[in-house]
Amino acid sequence: MGDVSWQNWSGHVRATPHAHVRPVDRDALSTVVAGSTGRIRMVGSGHSFTPLAATDDTLISLDRMEGTVLSCDADAATARLQAGASLNALSRALQDQGLAFKNLGDIDVQTLAGATATGTHGTGPGFSCLSAEMMEITLLLASGEFVVANAAQNTDLLHAARIALGSLGVIVDATMSVRESYRLHRRSFTQPLRDTLAGAMESWRAHRNFEFFCLPYCDHAFVIMHDETQAEPFGGKQDSDSNALMQLKQLRDLLGWAPPLRRAILNLVARREKPQEMIGSSWEMLANVRNNRFNEMEYHLPVDQGLDALQEVLAVIERQRRDVFFPIECRQTAGDDAWLSPFNGGPRISVAVHAWHEDSVDWFFDHVEPIFRRRGGRPHWGKMHSLQAAELRELYPDFERFTALRRELDPGGRFLNAHLAGLWGETLDDRA
Ligand SMILES: Cc1cc2nc3c(=O)[nH]c(=O)nc-3n(C[C@H](O)[C@H](O)[C@H](O)COP(=O)(O)OP(=O)(O)OC[C@H]3O[C@@H](n4cnc5c(N)ncnc54)[C@H](O)[C@@H]3O)c2cc1C
Repeated sequence: MGDVSWQNWSGHVRATPHAHVRPVDRDALSTVVAGSTGRIRMVGSGHSFTPLAATDDTLISLDRMEGTVLSCDADAATARLQAGASLNALSRALQDQGLAFKNLGDIDVQTLAGATATGTHGTGPGFSCLSAEMMEITLLLASGEFVVANAAQNTDLLHAARIALGSLGVIVDATMSVRESYRLHRRSFTQPLRDTLAGAMESWRAHRNFEFFCLPYCDHAFVIMHDETQAEPFGGKQDSDSNALMQLKQLRDLLGWAPPLRRAILNLVARREKPQEMIGSSWEMLANVRNNRFNEMEYHLPVDQGLDALQEVLAVIERQRRDVFFPIECRQTAGDDAWLSPFNGGPRISVAVHAWHEDSVDWFFDHVEPIFRRRGGRPHWGKMHSLQAAELRELYPDFERFTALRRELDPGGRFLNAHLAGLWGETLDDRA
């Protein structure tokens, strides 16, 4: 024990918890909660861009808890999973049982608890975010009591705890709705941005998973689509995106002052890019390796606003910010009914902007967030945004129900930090 330094994946959030505790079982975990004073934050893989896990007090990781798939029922297509395990470890263990997650985001190194706590999503209007697949959740409350929430008992808690940013208690395990394991055919290619935008809604209808990236100062988009197949695997595993991103950075460094030349070169490179395809296990095809550190803002927009917002964002970057070189990502996710799900009430199109980890993120807030806000967007809970309780209350019909339940379960504010207190409209006093 003693003060330890902690930082998130991008290096933007830093903290010095008094203790970083890694209990090996439930008894040890409840001893930490009951035996500590002050505030508690949980951390998964630290891949959130906001200070959700930052604390000076006690930081808890569940990465040493035993097991991955704790039990499964292939007929019901459900599996009870260790919440502190990574999605990658869980995908491998599920595959050994002939099962798989229905969908995944861009990467799979997040923990199950961490990914679900912020509404982590992939793409495809037929797929909800991962949190919506939680059928049952076991939670350790501030009172020291373990509670189980499912459709038959503590139903309100299930709706609240699916996406709660670790502010209700510690999620220990979750029973997820899964499916039999499957293969995906992954295809990626570049095509004119104009055609990509014009065909996007149809591509979402026609393919299991469809997403695209567009580049500032370029008239082409990079498209990725996945379709289910029973054909034999080929093509190996995915490469990391490191080289391509470093080339984009070099081009920005050398030609940022000359947008027309930068555009001409980017268009030439995009036209020469060779299409790629491969077939493999669902989780190997869906998840990428991201070695280049960046910061990110992503908003989830009503479907009729998403593509217009994206074009507005591209235009403002090209008008105002020659330093931006990271691709902008566009995906679609189905609706669900978790109280704080950004997809509560219907499907949304997500638009994400990124900045190299050493570059400024002020343009996210100055130029991009106002566009997302004007068009009815809701922020990704794990990515940068500036919203506080007053704005969030307007965006979430069940916001007050959530905050009332939170105060009831954690009257001492033990599962709060300054960031969370701002989100829920609470003040940090000396209660904890
Ligand atoms: C390179 C990269 C790619 C990404 N790709 C995607 C993507 O494709 N789609 C997407 O939606 N998001 C994506 N994200 C965002 C990421 O999925 C979320 O921020 C996610 O929450 C990170 O999971 P984590 O395990 O790192 O959790 P952390 O960031 O460590 O924690 C997230 C939240 O979970 C809480 N928490 C952790 N463990 C527990 C627990 N046991 N009980 C209760 N609460 C807990 C924490 O307190 C915190 O509030 C990406 C992030 C990065 C850096």
